[in-house]
Amino acid sequence: MDFSLTLEIEAALIVVLLLLYSFDEGSTANTGNQRFRFCLYVTLSAITMDVLSVYGIRSIDEIPVWLNMLISSLNYLLASLNSVVIASYLSFQIFEHFPKHFCRKKISIMIYSLYGIVVAAVVVNLFNNCLFSFQNNEYYRGPLNLLGYLVLICEVLMVGLCYLKNSEIASRSMRKAMRSIPYVVCGILIWQLVCRDIMMNGLIAAMVDLILFISFQSRRNNVDYLTNLGNRGAFVEDLAVLCESEKRLHVIMLCLNKFGRVNREFGQKNGDEFLYAAARYLDNISPAARAYRVGSLEFAIICQEDAEASYLCTVADIRERFMKPWEIGGMKSTLSASVSDLYWDGDESDNTQIIERLEYAMCLAKTEGENGWVHFDRRVRKMMERQKSIIEQMREAIADKSFSVYYQPIYCWKDGLFCSAEALARMSDKDGTQIPPSEFIALAESTGMIGELNWIIVEKVCAFIGKHPELGLKGITINMSIRQFMEKGMKDKLDTILNKYGVSHDILKIEITERVISENPVKARAIMESLTEEGVRFYLDDFGMGYSNFASVLSLPFDTIKLDKSLTDKALGTPKERQIFHSLVEMFLKARYSIVAEGAETEEIVEELKRLHVDRIQGYYYSKPLPEDQYIEFMKTDSR
Ligand code: C2E
Ligand code: CA
Ligand code: CA
Repeated sequence: MDFSLTLEIEAALIVVLLLLYSFDEGSTANTGNQRFRFCLYVTLSAITMDVLSVYGIRSIDEIPVWLNMLISSLNYLLASLNSVVIASYLSFQIFEHFPKHFCRKKISIMIYSLYGIVVAAVVVNLFNNCLFSFQNNEYYRGPLNLLGYLVLICEVLMVGLCYLKNSEIASRSMRKAMRSIPYVVCGILIWQLVCRDIMMNGLIAAMVDLILFISFQSRRNNVDYLTNLGNRGAFVEDLAVLCESEKRLHVIMLCLNKFGRVNREFGQKNGDEFLYAAARYLDNISPAARAYRVGSLEFAIICQEDAEASYLCTVADIRERFMKPWEIGGMKSTLSASVSDLYWDGDESDNTQIIERLEYAMCLAKTEGENGWVHFDRRVRKMMERQKSIIEQMREAIADKSFSVYYQPIYCWKDGLFCSAEALARMSDKDGTQIPPSEFIALAESTGMIGELNWIIVEKVCAFIGKHPELGLKGITINMSIRQFMEKGMKDKLDTILNKYGVSHDILKIEITERVISENPVKARAIMESLTEEGVRFYLDDFGMGYSNFASVLSLPFDTIKLDKSLTDKALGTPKERQIFHSLVEMFLKARYSIVAEGAETEEIVEELKRLHVDRIQGYYYSKPLPEDQYIEFMKTDSR
């Protein structure tokens, strides 16, 4: 057989194989798959046309000229269309995660304009034979015959330049593809120009399709290496495709807790075996379900509810299994797991919203202990919506610095004075109702906004102190979060604000909790020591609320210990609690700490605190936290 034909048939076989692989069982076709398959279909059509046109030219005596002209024209168009769809697929891949990137639109327009030129040339060719012609039973190349290749080279250059310009946003797969495609295309093109009689269009296209397959479509790109389950990318994509089909879905997320324990006990390698076993179990719970490993210790399962076996996909079964031990090669361990799940029945939510909801429910499940389970229902949805709205409002409040500060007076009974106050952040809802600090502060911490929020508070407090020298304030305490405290340049920032408002360092007291210290004790100490030198005092906040590591607390330069309300209440607790409370206070006083008792609400407790020589008292008994104007009023009148 003719060499050209052999090459074309081999190229076609490669493309058919790729097509079969692209219909990989179990994987759902996402936009990328669909585009790739489209490339393959176009390549196959182009090769078929190529073979037909070779046959037509070889049998020029037996075929009417008009038919040969038609076949060759279609062949020219399809060969060029093939390079267009491949170039467009590549540009789609460059901007995979930036679909709105302006370059993406620009390059699409350029690629399709080039194709427009080819189409025009093919039409014009019918009249003036500029590309090719059939005369006297011979095939002639026209002066513009190489236009198709020229367009191909332009496209390669355009995609190449576009890639180079945007290489920082391109994926690893894209880099892989761009390392080979230009060389392969140019190599075969040069070969083609040398051997003008051999047809290599099909070969070029098949080779490029093969590289695209290896780089983007190979199942390995979407498979987790350890468990062989689909990875996070596969989960996101499959969910997107299933959300388009009207099937009812049950999506489950599962997160293994304290898996480090298993690794420590049996070693990393055996730990992997446990993960593998869990993955196999999850992948086999139902024929209608597919499992994914979406994080190192997180799995997801999508059950398609229209299938008959879907009832097997119950969270109860999964949870029950994870409460029992797993046995592998004589090793036995339980793998506790938190679970979240939701039903999707064609509502407006898309794949990213489904994942966001599952992750939110997972956060709640994790707060329920080791084997917690939260089903995303209307109640959870409300909570999530409230949380989102608070975060949104917080972002706005940070942008326009609209947090307010309330001051809660602290009473020094020995001097008979409200010697200081604690500054507390306040934030209002859109309709003016206050959002409890316990709610928004926790969110600010988990989202990382707490640093910015706290600096706004510090600035407002300093402005307030600077503006009201007549109040003779001796101290205002502010609360600092870990993030703010450990921030680079924190001390300089604080100095700048204090200087800006002419506030002396010894007025400002900083309340921090043990958590702040335990995060990085060495750094915490360094910051505390350098600020203490300048006169800033530190209060240990919320003492008695959780686990208290005396040794670390006592070794740091704290000036004052603030007893949490839960501890203060013990002053009037059972005889044993009173005894412990008394001893604790005595110990701190002996160690020359100053003590503030928080949350004193009644006269009895205040009297008891005084009897035990607790220096300062803060609580509703004296005053609730007050807005600026009321605090000024309080200091001018009530405090005397
Ligand atoms: P905290 O630092 O322990 O603040 C004292 C809390 O106890 C305040 O709650 C105060 O209103 C409340 N309290 C005071 N006296 C009494 C009392 O007699 N009875 C009762 N039941 N409660 C009393 P608030 O203002 O709701 O603040 C809650 C927490 O939010 C604060 O606890 C603090 O951890 C945090 N927070 C508030 N403002 C800020 C801030 O600007 N920055 C940071 N990082 N955290 C803040
Ligand atoms: Ca505090
Ligand atoms: Ca406190």
